[in-house]
Amino acid sequence: MMRRLAALLLVLACSCGATLHAQQPRFHVLAFYTEKTEADHVDFARQAITFFEAEAKHDNFAWQATTNWDDLNAANLQHYQLVVWLNDSPHVDSQRTAFEQYMKHGGAWLGFHFAGYNDESTHWPWFVDDFLDAVFLTNSWPPLPATLVVEDRGHPVTRGLPKTYMSPANEWYMWKPNPRANKDIHVLLSLSPSNYPLGMKDTLTSGDLPVVWTNTKYKMLYCNMGHGDKIFTRATQNQLFKNAILWLGGAAAK
Ligand code: ZN
Repeated sequence: MMRRLAALLLVLACSCGATLHAQQPRFHVLAFYTEKTEADHVDFARQAITFFEAEAKHDNFAWQATTNWDDLNAANLQHYQLVVWLNDSPHVDSQRTAFEQYMKHGGAWLGFHFAGYNDESTHWPWFVDDFLDAVFLTNSWPPLPATLVVEDRGHPVTRGLPKTYMSPANEWYMWKPNPRANKDIHVLLSLSPSNYPLGMKDTLTSGDLPVVWTNTKYKMLYCNMGHGDKIFTRATQNQLFKNAILWLGGAAAK
């Protein structure tokens, strides 16, 4: 009897172990955001956290969000395969250096909207000229939906997306220099010229406007979406965000 009980316990222990192993997260994500910025950017960050928390459960990755940008340090970053900036970028030299080293040594980054914003006060040449490869020029206002063109439908980030789709209301950024001018930049989505003129108070009237791109020198993706509380209202675009996080986390289907 004792022997049979011992055998049963052994079987139970093994199956529990197997279950535990199956539930190990496929990768770990650390998302940074701030509550001290314009309300539309805070709304986006909060909705993004809700969206990605659900995705993390569904697709078995670990998602953690923080407003403490001092967590952007080498010792902490070694625990994460992917860093996300939801509505800001680091402004402190030590945080910037830690991020640059992380990216140069195989880390991954997903940035939304204001995370890519830069101006003459930014003073971070590596980020602007070598990583994002885009200088903010101007934006449309108010936030409006826009038709986007999926330029490369063969990329893991755009898998399942149609050739064009209507993206929910966003404030759209225009860049100069245009990231497309750099040979290392691969533009995945851009604004359809059919949207012009776009805006009412601030109107974009013409020009090539990349919206989602990757710098092939790094494991990174920038998405210009990220203004207001409408961003996650279309399934087509949500698919793009799901694809993006799995690709950057190294878990995209081959
Ligand atoms: Zn904005």
